[in-house]
Amino acid sequence: MDSPKEINSVFWDNKKKSWEYKMVAVDEYHGWTECQYCNKPMSHNIKSEGEFKVVYVKCGCTRTD
Ligand SMILES: [Zn+2]
Repeated sequence: MDSPKEINSVFWDNKKKSWEYKMVAVDEYHGWTECQYCNKPMSHNIKSEGEFKVVYVKCGCTRTD
């Protein structure tokens, strides 16, 4: 898997009670964590805007609601 330049991260919006997306710029890519159910990437370890972050994405099982 190539290092992405940006990731469409997903987070739970407590006010809207729904999943929201946010594009996060990737300065450095440090790998990802697999979902234990579908083995698709579930979170990515990145450096963005000078900070190390873990951003979450929708894996295979959360894609279908
Ligand atoms: Zn999954």
